[in-house]
Amino acid sequence: MKQAPGRAAKQPKPESRLAMIRRARRINRELAEVYPYAHPELDFRNPFELLVATVLSAQTTDLRVNQTTPALFAAYPTPEAMAAAAPEDLEELIRPTGFFRAKSRSLLGLSQALCEKFGGEVPGRIEDLVTLPGVGRKTANVVLGNAFGVPGITVDTHFGRLVRRFKWTEQEDPEKVEEEICAIFPKSEWTMLSHRVVFHGRRICHARKPACGACPIAPLCPSYGEGETDPEKARKLLKYEKGGQPGQRLSPPADYPGLPAPPLGAPAP
Ligand code: SF4
Repeated sequence: MKQAPGRAAKQPKPESRLAMIRRARRINRELAEVYPYAHPELDFRNPFELLVATVLSAQTTDLRVNQTTPALFAAYPTPEAMAAAAPEDLEELIRPTGFFRAKSRSLLGLSQALCEKFGGEVPGRIEDLVTLPGVGRKTANVVLGNAFGVPGITVDTHFGRLVRRFKWTEQEDPEKVEEEICAIFPKSEWTMLSHRVVFHGRRICHARKPACGACPIAPLCPSYGEGETDPEKARKLLKYEKGGQPGQRLSPPADYPGLPAPPLGAPAP
């Protein structure tokens, strides 16, 4: 492993749990400074839209979902409207997100269940949300954390990869990762921690080529050196606002410093 900048060259000792927790909380604080504008990267205006967008985000990018949902919500703005949709019309609208037949079945099923069991409203409890077709714990946590303000850790591919690189956990199973990370941080941090870590994974700590040489938390990261350490080459790997490129949301929050994503089919600015 290469030496992170600012670290003395000495034999590493095994890290105590207390030291790991302190380091983890410091990484969270530093990420909060790097990404004060961290937010969910799916466009939504209400819990129903977030629920649908999260179901559509399986096996595709948030960008592709955000480019697909404006036409979908214009056609079916409520659970009642979506529950009454013809399957083939729904499939056609969500086709760009892939797996559109299975996703269409989930959307029809969950809209019908919302109408029949929850009075056409998205429920704000995890035990109710996970009874909806196509809704697992991850989707439920996204909806609770971002549409209802209930703290939750969302373990997606970026989150899992980064917390293992940070050596906060060695678990691979998302539910076990969630449990171990929840034990490190106070509840009030869970939702924003999830956004900051995912932001960092998308912009700097990429799956295949982490930009270690341009990483502001490198001195705190035991996996420094897994990616490009040359600062100039690393800077060229940066994505989204860090690399001067558009973000994932067509309608980002007002404090987002980057460019909004282009609509479906439009050339990137
Ligand atoms: S980019 Fe490198 S140094 Fe930064 S968090 Fe990822 S692995 Fe660690």
